[in-house]
Amino acid sequence: MFNLIPCLTKFIILTLSTYNVSSTLQRHKIPIGGIFTPGSTELQSAFKYAISLHNKNESSRFQVEPITDVIDTNDPFRFTRQMCLQLSRGIFTLVTPIIGPSYETLVSYSNTFQMPFIHPGYPETNSQNIPNFGLNIRPEYLKAIVEVIKLYRWKDIIYIYDSDEGLIKLQHVFSILYSDGHTLHLRAVKRIANGIEGHSFLRAIEHKEKDAMKYVIVECDAKVAKEMISRHVRDIYMGRRNFHYFLTNLIMDQFTGMKIDEFGAINITGFRILNRSSIFFRTFISSWKALDPFHWPGAGHRYISADAALMFDGTRILLDALDRILTDRPNVFDANLRDNEVYNGNNPKPGINCAETYPTLYWEHGRLIVQYLKQTNIEGLTGRIVFDDSSVRRNYSIDMIQTTMNSEMTKIAEWSEEEGMSSVPANYHRVYQNNANYENKTYIVTSIIEEPYLMYKEVGEDGVEYEGNDRFEGYCKDLADLIAEHLKINYVLQLVADRRYGGTDKNSPVGWNGMVGELIKQEADIAIAPLTITSARERVIDFTKPFLSLGISIMIKKPAKKNPSIFSFMNPLSQEIWMCIILSYFGVSVVMFIVSRFSPMECRVAHTHEGQTVLTNDFTLYNSLWFALGAIMQQGVDVCPRSYAGRIVGSVWWFFTLIIISSYTANLAAFLTVERMVTPINSADDLAKQTEVEYGVLKDSSTMEFFKKSKIQVYSRMWEFMNSHPHVFVDSYQEGIRRVRESKGKYAFLMESTSNDYINQRQPCDTMKVGRNLDAKGFGVATPLGSPLRVSLNLAVLHLTEKGDLTRLENKWWYDRSECKSSDSKESSKSSLTLYNVAGCFYILIAGLIISMIVAMIEYLWRSRRESERFKVRETLINHKMN
Ligand code: ASP
Repeated sequence: MFNLIPCLTKFIILTLSTYNVSSTLQRHKIPIGGIFTPGSTELQSAFKYAISLHNKNESSRFQVEPITDVIDTNDPFRFTRQMCLQLSRGIFTLVTPIIGPSYETLVSYSNTFQMPFIHPGYPETNSQNIPNFGLNIRPEYLKAIVEVIKLYRWKDIIYIYDSDEGLIKLQHVFSILYSDGHTLHLRAVKRIANGIEGHSFLRAIEHKEKDAMKYVIVECDAKVAKEMISRHVRDIYMGRRNFHYFLTNLIMDQFTGMKIDEFGAINITGFRILNRSSIFFRTFISSWKALDPFHWPGAGHRYISADAALMFDGTRILLDALDRILTDRPNVFDANLRDNEVYNGNNPKPGINCAETYPTLYWEHGRLIVQYLKQTNIEGLTGRIVFDDSSVRRNYSIDMIQTTMNSEMTKIAEWSEEEGMSSVPANYHRVYQNNANYENKTYIVTSIIEEPYLMYKEVGEDGVEYEGNDRFEGYCKDLADLIAEHLKINYVLQLVADRRYGGTDKNSPVGWNGMVGELIKQEADIAIAPLTITSARERVIDFTKPFLSLGISIMIKKPAKKNPSIFSFMNPLSQEIWMCIILSYFGVSVVMFIVSRFSPMECRVAHTHEGQTVLTNDFTLYNSLWFALGAIMQQGVDVCPRSYAGRIVGSVWWFFTLIIISSYTANLAAFLTVERMVTPINSADDLAKQTEVEYGVLKDSSTMEFFKKSKIQVYSRMWEFMNSHPHVFVDSYQEGIRRVRESKGKYAFLMESTSNDYINQRQPCDTMKVGRNLDAKGFGVATPLGSPLRVSLNLAVLHLTEKGDLTRLENKWWYDRSECKSSDSKESSKSSLTLYNVAGCFYILIAGLIISMIVAMIEYLWRSRRESERFKVRETLINHKMN
């Protein structure tokens, strides 16, 4: 370990040229006091280690004796006594990390007795008691905290703290923010004693506002913060993506190197002050690691907390300052170090006696030491260390560190007083956990029997029963084979015990049932099934990118096709139009008759059989009707109007009939050939509006979750209906499809479009999908949180998609197996008219012919009767005349 010494001494300024060690300093050691709290063993080690390195260095011009006390600094009285004891021993400077109530006492004593003290980090206070002889090694970085809040644009935070300092710090953050014109709302604030308390506090908030984003500012020490976050990561009730922790203390160094699955699955931002990349740090850390933790508690590994590093730097600053004093004034302490004691000025007794109040004795070299301390300029574990005249650390920078759901801890920005926050190109990289050794292992793959994803294979022709994974076939079986081949893993396909996909379940110990529950309970390693990616599931398990895209759709029973009626030639025009045409026909005929009566031009001179000349008018009511009918039928008749008025009536009527008949002809073919299917339900809206057709979803499915959570009025209305009629829920897709088929159109099933499409292509081809999809989502391969397979599975799914394997599987299991294709194509090719389509016309023709024959017969009989009557009358007249 001591090969570090030459390296460190490079950084401790030595003036070897004045190698004139005074004889006094050879005999006496300079006493340096240290007051610590019981838990601060790592800090004590850092303090003593810095001194031991100095003492072991042969070129050191003086030796140092550390005098340490460990006391409960929460008790200011005990601290006072200890402080006086230290002063009486004649310490040159005190090094202490104390905070809390004793800190104010420390400042008072230091100011009174001009005793310099070195502190790794002043606590945040509102006190006016300025430490004139103190040196704070930790830089002031409150503004960095404010800048992070501004950077993320947080408007609403949860604040958790573990010491009195917490609220004062929050108050300071708020005042800086407000002075910059920013507002910040404090949603909740809590002082905690340990991580468990912090976790239960956040859990209660999560319970109330599950989906809201939570920005948690944590002002706690590393142990508390670590415990709280690691509990969060392990708690399946807690969301991850909706949490962002911001650790305001310089504790990110203690997170470095932790197992990534502990903290890598959540967003954490924090600060780091250690300059890990410097040669000085690397040399130090390898010697720190080599220390025996029994003698050096807290040491012995490659990590050092920021506080311990600041303590180490602080002690080195003091040693460097004393060295420079002795370089400049080699005999300055000679008068003080006599007879194995440390005397102060002319005081006959050694040390400083606190009880002597008048005249107050102060440490005669206090000012000198502080003056040299302020002139420090050395390289430390926390970067370059320089102070200004007011003993405030300058020219430092701190790193902003972030871990996200998917990336390891990485530096994303650097903050310095002068330049503020300057982002650095973040070197995010994916969390790969021990990926090297997942290969050649056997994993349990959970799935569910669902056509065409996973089905039992029929027993082969030879009657041999299949075993193991070979018992199954389907899209998911093929996908599992491809994935296993790609990842070089083996798998055992296991059907989910409760035959559910996965929904929240109060009776389950993990809060979820189905495949999701099995993954959480680690009863299965992977789920390869039509398992929909949802936000609620993503909180408790991991999904790959989607391997199939789909949406919720409606399945109904195909309504029976309506054959066109024999009078379907009437269909191109609606009944109203037919009525209007008939009325117009009579109207036009009457008008024609009237205008012809009035118009003299319509009169014609005719000769009767008897040779008389009479005036006639062709447009009798009977002829007018005949004329109008001829126009409708697009035929000419031998009566034509001659008057202007009559011709006007004729022209408009011809025009009217031309348009009407053209429109009729244009529509006729379509109406005669198309066998129309009248679907009672065409959309979710139609379903929501009525109660005659019931509708339901699969229990504990993502579809059920969709309706339960939906804020869209139509869907929430549908959920109300379903929820109040629990019999509409089904236990499996098969049951839902059976109900659609058997309920004669009185049940619609809301299911995923992929299954809907598949079933519609299966015999007996009596179901159909109606309307657009209600949403858009995908199926993903799922793994438990933090599974070592996660990243590789994701890459495998993407690889298979890009290669086109998944499209091939889709064609294989959906389109190539279609059973309803042939009948459909037959239907589509059927475009010629059949006799049935035009039967009505034939009936009318036959009816017309029959009527005309009957009329002709009636005419004939009527005429014969008249003729015979006339004949009889004539005969009677002739007989009468002859008689
Ligand atoms: N694939 C589904 C699920 O993951 C079933 C459904 O939502 O209808 O729950």
